[in-house]
Amino acid sequence: MSSWEEKVHKVTPYTPGEQPKSTNVIKLNTNENPYPPAGAVQKAIADFDYESLRKYPDPTAAGLIGALSDTYGVPADQIFVGVGSDDVLAMSFLSFFTSGEKILFPDVTYSFYDVWADEFRIPFETVPLLPDFSIDIDGFCKGDAAGIVIPNPNAPTGLDAGTAALEKIIRSNPQCVVIIDEAYVDFGAESVLPLIEKYDNLLVTQTFSKSRALAGSRIGFAFGSKKLIKYLNDVKYSFNSYTMDAITQKVGVAALSDPEYFKMRCLAIINERERAKKRFTELGFDFPDSKSNFIFVHHPKVAAEDIFAALRENNIFVRHFDGERVHDHLRVTIGTEEQMDALFEFLGKYLEEKA
Ligand SMILES: *Cc1c(COP(=O)(O)O)cnc(C)c1O
Repeated sequence: MSSWEEKVHKVTPYTPGEQPKSTNVIKLNTNENPYPPAGAVQKAIADFDYESLRKYPDPTAAGLIGALSDTYGVPADQIFVGVGSDDVLAMSFLSFFTSGEKILFPDVTYSFYDVWADEFRIPFETVPLLPDFSIDIDGFCKGDAAGIVIPNPNAPTGLDAGTAALEKIIRSNPQCVVIIDEAYVDFGAESVLPLIEKYDNLLVTQTFSKSRALAGSRIGFAFGSKKLIKYLNDVKYSFNSYTMDAITQKVGVAALSDPEYFKMRCLAIINERERAKKRFTELGFDFPDSKSNFIFVHHPKVAAEDIFAALRENNIFVRHFDGERVHDHLRVTIGTEEQMDALFEFLGKYLEEKA
């Protein structure tokens, strides 16, 4: 190794789900929304004044923050926006978790948390999920962590811990910031957002990527106490003032302008998920009871890796994770009715041949 290389900050990057080149694929591997964004988004892009790109975008994203404030009934100075919730979460780790002491998150969870911890040299411990994949609430209530991050519903299990359990964790940890990552909350779980009034160390993060069908635009946001949001902004403005471009800010406002469309699409995904649960059960799969836009399935007779490979050969992409507790599961994103029909038609035949 050359001497300069010894000084390089070496990290193992996060591995995102595959984005296949072929358009002939049923893509159920990255929890994207199978429906288009709201029509108002198309209009906002078409009407965008391209000449205005000459200027820097509004660093405060005031238009988008205002629209979020109206939509969620939260004052603007308690809202932070970032380039996807990955950006919001990375900024939050940098702002709240770099004390040098250990932070906590579940052992089976969003696989970006340990990447950020390594990136920012944050020591961490994982709290194992219980055998049924639910969060070990007491494991998070010892009150000695320097930071806690939990997705609710959890990924990739889809399980909702419930507000009472999450509040117990928040109440037990006044010594640190607690982040509840609500990337999937719009698919049927209850948000802990009202609790930001009660706990000034609670940060609630959400995203436009899943429920608002805007993964390609990169819009994430967070709610918290005024103090928490100020600390977060101070770090953000010390890093890069202009993270969110001008078009995206308009796109975000447009997406929020059509709550009826949003509700209709979320409900369609929820209904399709419940239908998928029945069909997975009929095919012999078991799974935690998902409140998200994916289901984490396991088949007692056929290895997940084999099912994954067979699906892939037939242009149906789902997600398989390595790791002791999860390698025999597949995370299947809820697609449209037609996509799910194709999935189940294939699985029916495949499992019949296998058995
Ligand atoms: C998808 C996801 C995110 C990040 O989404 P963005 O596209 O960056 O907004 C964050 N947390 C969890 C648990 C996710 O699944």
